[in-house]
Amino acid sequence: MDVPRLKQSWAVVAAHGDQVPLYFYSTLFLTHPETRQMFPTNMAGQRDRLVTALGHIVSNVDQVDRLMGFLQDLGADHRKFAVRAEHYPAVGEALLATLRHFLAERWTDELAQDWAAAYGLVSQVMIEAAEAAEAVNPPWWVGEIVAHERRGFDVAVLTVRPQYLLPFTPGQSIGVSHPAVRSWRYYSPANAPRADGTLELHVRAVPGGAVSSRLVYGCAAGDQIHLAAPVGDRLTLWSAGSADLLLLAGGTGWAPVKALVEQVVAEGSRRKVDLYVGARSRTEFYDSEAIDKLASSYPGLTVTCVVGLDVNRPGEVVHPVDRALTDGDWRSRHVYVCGSDEMVSHSVATLQQAGYHAGQLHHEGLGKHWYGPSWRTAVDRPSTPDISGGAR
Ligand SMILES: Cc1cc2nc3c(=O)[nH]c(=O)nc-3n(C[C@H](O)[C@H](O)[C@H](O)COP(=O)(O)OP(=O)(O)OC[C@H]3O[C@@H](n4cnc5c(N)ncnc54)[C@H](O)[C@@H]3O)c2cc1C
Repeated sequence: MDVPRLKQSWAVVAAHGDQVPLYFYSTLFLTHPETRQMFPTNMAGQRDRLVTALGHIVSNVDQVDRLMGFLQDLGADHRKFAVRAEHYPAVGEALLATLRHFLAERWTDELAQDWAAAYGLVSQVMIEAAEAAEAVNPPWWVGEIVAHERRGFDVAVLTVRPQYLLPFTPGQSIGVSHPAVRSWRYYSPANAPRADGTLELHVRAVPGGAVSSRLVYGCAAGDQIHLAAPVGDRLTLWSAGSADLLLLAGGTGWAPVKALVEQVVAEGSRRKVDLYVGARSRTEFYDSEAIDKLASSYPGLTVTCVVGLDVNRPGEVVHPVDRALTDGDWRSRHVYVCGSDEMVSHSVATLQQAGYHAGQLHHEGLGKHWYGPSWRTAVDRPSTPDISGGAR
């Protein structure tokens, strides 16, 4: 398989921009109409996801060993879109037809063989992982919303009871979908695993956001939503050993960070934990009561709330990291950062400039430029495609 040639041909195709996914989906839905139901009714925003991810992954087939974990997660995760083994050839055919169309006279028999072989390899890993996952987890869980609290204008805290146990590790995220919307998004449980199996989700409604708006404004206790298996290991405490922690949270980035704090409290360790929670204004600290409770139950926890916007300093944003670095030197600690993409990239850049090294920094942005937890870990580069929407 000539991998440089694969990559080169993908670069040529990708240069056609939006035309590529448009052609891909038209071909897929025309030739295999049964696949249409796996995708949202409204395909806007979907177009750049699956096909871009596929092209990128397949043309990087030489890294398949490095990507193995990611592809396995992806295969297992795509069960929630009702993707089955027989759908993979349909997607492969549409992908090859798209390549042939855009490469025109550059499309040769050799290139066709290479693309088919590379796609075969990638899809085989995904299919096998999906089959293995069948024995462990269902494709999705039905969850009942047992409590729905609006905390301010655009945030809701939901308590959800899965129909049966949904195991996860603090810091991971789970897929969430509302039956009326048929799209999946990730949300991070804001609790350590509980004896009753319930999960707490903190959701901020993004303007025009399909799933977040529905969860914040269009749900109530008693409603059912769908949940999918946990993903991601970037924010778990696995790689921090027993080190003391500096935790930086912005907005609903507080959710996974809260789960980490609960884990630390539950494990009864003696770690020191310094937590900086940021919000744009005082009224946006939507979980102050819980923060106070955690602080009073764990003597090793110190909490600082950071108001981002100050009327006396118009235009200037203070991030939790700015306050934390003014307060102390945390270079002996592991640092966890979660919030908007802007907050996370500012924090990481600031910490790196201050001499913190990559191995002690754990971060996840909740924003639109998200590329998938394991994928980022596998190939840490910002130009990788967004597959967060998967099929739906
Ligand atoms: C690993 C992970 C964990 C997450 N955990 C949480 C969580 O615990 N709580 C939480 O509230 N959110 C969380 N998110 C964000 C969440 O998954 C959704 O992206 C968000 O709720 C918007 O979904 P939507 O369907 O409402 O918007 P969409 O319909 O997908 O998008 C609508 C518009 O908003 C833009 N947009 C999408 N997401 C964002 C965003 N986050 N910020 C700004 N603009 C955006 C889109 O580009 C689009 O223009 C997490 C994201 C990731 C990747």
